[in-house]
Amino acid sequence: MKTNRKEFIKTSLLAGTAIGFNACKFDSKTRPTSIVTNKPIVISTWRFGLQANAAAWEILKNGGKAIDAVEAGVKVPEADANERSVGLGGRPDRDGIVSLDACIMDELGNIGSVVCLENIKHAISVARAIMEKTPHVMLAGQGAYQFALSQGFQKENLLLPESEKEWKEWLVHNQYKPIANIENHDTIGMLALDESGNLSGACTTSGMAFKMRGRVGDSPIIGAGLYVDNEIGAATATGHGEEVIRIAGSSLVVELMRQGLKPEEACKEAVMRVVKLMERRNKNLKDIQVGFIALNKLGEHGAYCVQSGFNFAIQSKEQKELIDAPFYLKV
Ligand code: ASP
Repeated sequence: MKTNRKEFIKTSLLAGTAIGFNACKFDSKTRPTSIVTNKPIVISTWRFGLQANAAAWEILKNGGKAIDAVEAGVKVPEADANERSVGLGGRPDRDGIVSLDACIMDELGNIGSVVCLENIKHAISVARAIMEKTPHVMLAGQGAYQFALSQGFQKENLLLPESEKEWKEWLVHNQYKPIANIENHDTIGMLALDESGNLSGACTTSGMAFKMRGRVGDSPIIGAGLYVDNEIGAATATGHGEEVIRIAGSSLVVELMRQGLKPEEACKEAVMRVVKLMERRNKNLKDIQVGFIALNKLGEHGAYCVQSGFNFAIQSKEQKELIDAPFYLKV
């Protein structure tokens, strides 16, 4: 389902009116003083977010916790062999090895992250186990794999025939050239606000297809691919991770909301930082995509991206849909 910008505004306004956003007031510190909140709600990146949200919603609608909802939600594309940018069936690196990156953050500021994880499909659950069962916040490669096995995760071959075929075709030219929006990347980033008013987020990916072995993008990096501040809001990113890391993207979006910006405005401002640094470095903006989604403490949401093609999924009591994100590059 495609939605244009006009429809997006209309839908947002309707949703806003339906739940009484107009009644919301902010004090001098931009903290909400009204109790009218759009909750529970879950939002996530790309089309696969629709199914992922549905799994998260099963938890949220029954009064479950946001942290459980985001984990359950992103596990859907992680387990789906047909989704080739996340988990099982993900595209490999240039050496033919599928390696996963993920992170998770709860309402208390607990964090867990895993990078370059091989042979375990639910990277997000490994990240959560790191958060809950170790004194650390991030584990990498072999150490992360050994930890996962010790926690009962099963070894599995993540490289499936379709991705292997693509990789072999890619080897003929052997060029690392990610294409914006053309399915050789994509990450599921998910943000949820639960019935108790708590926020959490999760982010998981197989990263850029045919990346260098050992390459880590933004997705497992707290502050870049994901950030949650339970007083303010949460944000997550997708697209060319190198550009997101450069501006500490998700943390920036949350800080902009702290200063009073609405979610879409905050996402737009962060995208403008990406644009500025691309221009400063004489890089061609058309070669990249970066998209942010954000959710604030009132359950208001928004997104913004560099160029057309990025969409995000929403599920709440009033809404269940996929929305095209507004974008900067008009060509
Ligand atoms: N951000 C991911 C990465 O750089 C890829 C994506 O979301 O498209 O690994």
